[in-house]
Amino acid sequence: MADPTDWKTKHLNSLREMELEERRWRALEQVLRRLVNRLCAAAMGIDPRLDTQLSKLAEANRRGADVTELGARHDSLSDTLKALDSNFGSATLTDLQATIPVSRTQSAPPAAAPAVNLAAIRAAAAKLLERIAAHDPTDTRIADIKGQLASAGNDAAFAGVLARMADLVGELGADVARERAAAAAVLGQVTERLEEMANYIGSLNDERRARLDDADTLNTAVLSQVGSLSAEARNASDLPTLRALVASGLESVATQVRDFHAREGKRSGEQSARAETLRARITELERESRELNRTLDLERRHSRLDPLTKIANRPAFDERFTEELGRLKRFHTPVALLLWDIDRFKGINDSYGHRVGDAVLREVAACLAVRLRSTDLVARYGGEEFGMLLVGSTLAEVTALAEELRQSIAALGFHFKGTPVAVTASCGITELKEGDTAASAFDRADGALYRAKEAGRNRCLAA
Ligand code: GH3
Ligand code: MG
Ligand code: MG
Repeated sequence: MADPTDWKTKHLNSLREMELEERRWRALEQVLRRLVNRLCAAAMGIDPRLDTQLSKLAEANRRGADVTELGARHDSLSDTLKALDSNFGSATLTDLQATIPVSRTQSAPPAAAPAVNLAAIRAAAAKLLERIAAHDPTDTRIADIKGQLASAGNDAAFAGVLARMADLVGELGADVARERAAAAAVLGQVTERLEEMANYIGSLNDERRARLDDADTLNTAVLSQVGSLSAEARNASDLPTLRALVASGLESVATQVRDFHAREGKRSGEQSARAETLRARITELERESRELNRTLDLERRHSRLDPLTKIANRPAFDERFTEELGRLKRFHTPVALLLWDIDRFKGINDSYGHRVGDAVLREVAACLAVRLRSTDLVARYGGEEFGMLLVGSTLAEVTALAEELRQSIAALGFHFKGTPVAVTASCGITELKEGDTAASAFDRADGALYRAKEAGRNRCLAA
């Protein structure tokens, strides 16, 4: 069995790390929340409808509202902005701010907004994003927010992006707190079991000592009995007296020995009961540790899943890709690499919003995953890009399957509020060759994907 103190140290260390991590996230969340409030204040006074939304957002943010509430606030802010944008044609809100009539500003002065250096805040937000990305470079939500930050054209949109950042940090912090609580629970259990075992071992030692003491006592008592018996025997005047003396002396020794045996019997009974309890405890501990392993395994698998689409993520794909390259050298089974990229996805986000974009990503992922065999793999490789490994099929079979998948994506029939949303994807295909590195195979597939895009999109091309 592994040294249990090892376990304990490991658990304590990871608890400590998680605690630090949690503190870092909380600090980051605080900074983001402050930024959101400053930006809300800065964007005040453009339009009363916008002001209402901004004050609600700032209020919710100040109160530490949770992800769902902030998400809803962010959505209604975006809706208001869209409405304002369409009311004022192509003028941006920044343009509008410059044209607010003086009389309105005088009659209803906006809450005094502190002077804010937007460029500095934008740079700080970008830096914060880099720090969040360092925690998990594969988290596609970060790349997405980066894009939004870069394209945020006015203060209010900027505040929306920061609110999304605050949400994300809140979620990540909550993840860490959850892991920490689970690890603390496991540590508690392990400590309890270790204490039980230490107590049992302690009781065995006590028992051995008691038994030795008892045997000593018996020895002394029997020796003294024999001593006094022989002294009395020497003084006995006749045979019947001697016989009576010997009989009572022997009886007394026999009683002591019988008592000793009774105590021994009781002790060994108690000891086997304790040993039985310990055996049961150890069996339970083994079961718990199997359970823990299963949970950890599940966690590991979760960490290999893309949270949005629930298919494999980039680290899982890269790991499998390396394995397949190694296997190719030994077994020569054909393996194909396919790179999928949703066509004009930015347009979908821009026209219908990110939530619709996310729903499209989920649908496309499910569509790509549904036909695959257990030896194949599809993963979300980046924002709207998917990597696929197909094992044991010829290039002609792979191309035919890709074509079917492409058609089923195009036939998804996605709708937003009754309006059909055209969703198509392009695909670059290559077979892995002996001597390939991950980079060389990737470059070929990427080249084919690029040509598919150039040729008009919604098509699959082999390298
Ligand atoms: P092309 O046909 O050439 O591939 O054009 P495209 O618009 O699909 O490509 P581009 O790379 O310009 O845009 C990809 C967009 O995907 C930009 C980014 O905001 C968006 N995106 C990335 N990750 C996510 C995500 O998790 N959710 C949503 N909704 N959008 C995302
Ligand atoms: Mg792309
Ligand atoms: Mg694309």
